[in-house]
Amino acid sequence: MQGTAADATARRTLVVGNWKMHGDLQANRSLLQALVAAPRSAGCEIGVCVPFPYLAQARELLAGSAIALGAQDCSMHQQGAYTGEVSARMLREFDCRYVLVGHSERRALHGEADAMVAAKAERALDCGITPIVCVGETGAQREAGETDAVIGMQLDAVLNLLGSHASRMVLAYEPVWAIGSGRSASAAQAQQVHALIRSRAVHHGVDPRELTILYGGSVNPGNAGELFGQDAIDGGLVGGASLKAADFLAIVAAAPSRSPTA
Ligand code: PEP
Repeated sequence: MQGTAADATARRTLVVGNWKMHGDLQANRSLLQALVAAPRSAGCEIGVCVPFPYLAQARELLAGSAIALGAQDCSMHQQGAYTGEVSARMLREFDCRYVLVGHSERRALHGEADAMVAAKAERALDCGITPIVCVGETGAQREAGETDAVIGMQLDAVLNLLGSHASRMVLAYEPVWAIGSGRSASAAQAQQVHALIRSRAVHHGVDPRELTILYGGSVNPGNAGELFGQDAIDGGLVGGASLKAADFLAIVAAAPSRSPTA
């Protein structure tokens, strides 16, 4: 692990949009211009994770704004014969502040295992990019009572590899059954898992005042207030609702303005 400092060093309020494989040049422009133009409180950071081909366009449209640019994945390798992959160093050249790693769609559709997700997080930190490490259980795992064990394993892989650098990442709890389903976790379910994640990280020596944990999975303007009102939840990772400026801004408005705290 190299010593390049990524930005995440204090627990903070953060709402990040995950555009997934959506967008085109015209739609992106309208969406980003609306986000940039909207008045917001300074207490909540915002980011958008866009598809790779749109990084240059998004960087230009976000220039001078307080909205951070992010990508949706990076390679676990630094460089080399890895056709189709994109390195963290390349993302850095486009001023990415964030990169999602271990999103459940990558784990399920591309066979990404916990060790690979951890290696990607490490590559991102090496390049000064904050990885947003996604963890979460499937519906079947929840029904079988395996939620804590599954999330514990996903977390341990990254906490063990990053060691004392773990507080430089952001974690996102995204129950797989809630993603894109229109059925979010209840505030109590999300709070319980966030508390578990925080205590596991503390057990690995992470300072809780430095750890930001987002909730993701069918967040919308109607449920964001209750979810973000939980004291263990620091903001959201928002998929579908991040594609509509009005919805995304309403979700951002529901995020609490907290000063760094344990
Ligand atoms: C996501 O894909 O990260 C996500 C949270 O999606 P959605 O908000 O659409 O459930």
